[in-house]
Amino acid sequence: MKIENYELKGTKLPIITYPDPVLTAVAQPVTEFGEPLKKLVEDMLFTMYHAPGIGLAAPQIGKSIRLFVIDINYEKETVTNAEGKAVTKFTDTQPMVFVNPIITGKSGTTTYEEGCLSVPGVYEEVKRFETINVKYQDLDGNEHTIDADDLLSICIQHENDHLDGIVFIERLSNLKKNFYKKKMIKEKAR
Ligand code: ZN
Repeated sequence: MKIENYELKGTKLPIITYPDPVLTAVAQPVTEFGEPLKKLVEDMLFTMYHAPGIGLAAPQIGKSIRLFVIDINYEKETVTNAEGKAVTKFTDTQPMVFVNPIITGKSGTTTYEEGCLSVPGVYEEVKRFETINVKYQDLDGNEHTIDADDLLSICIQHENDHLDGIVFIERLSNLKKNFYKKKMIKEKAR
């Protein structure tokens, strides 16, 4: 669901990095629709835009619930304001929110170089379905379906994986997977 009349506000939440148990847990369905959920989504979008990233799933900010936000469209730039101060500006924002998503149809294959805010510095080609059909709820609990292709399809599959406790490096060859796992564990230990 696209959020209409979106106004960028909220709190920047800390992003959990791999390895952390919350990133490998299967998230629970969202059952409460109301102000706390809306506030959480506002903060997740704020966090995603400032990171910057094109998607953020609830487990990445430590909440093991089936929810993610996406914006594959916006531009982030730093501009100098009238007082000569550098400020961050976001244009063409088109935030989308998916609550309790289920991928109900998938076809074709595509590859794309993916990255993840929870796996900083790693960019690798991942094989995904080209086109998907997704059933999900909006912030009021109403059900919707969407057909997605291109980057939106890839992004939804990446974020949906987070809800199943799958970080994108799990989708790589065993060799690469083990390499990055060891690297991330070492970096975190430092
Ligand atoms: Zn990710």
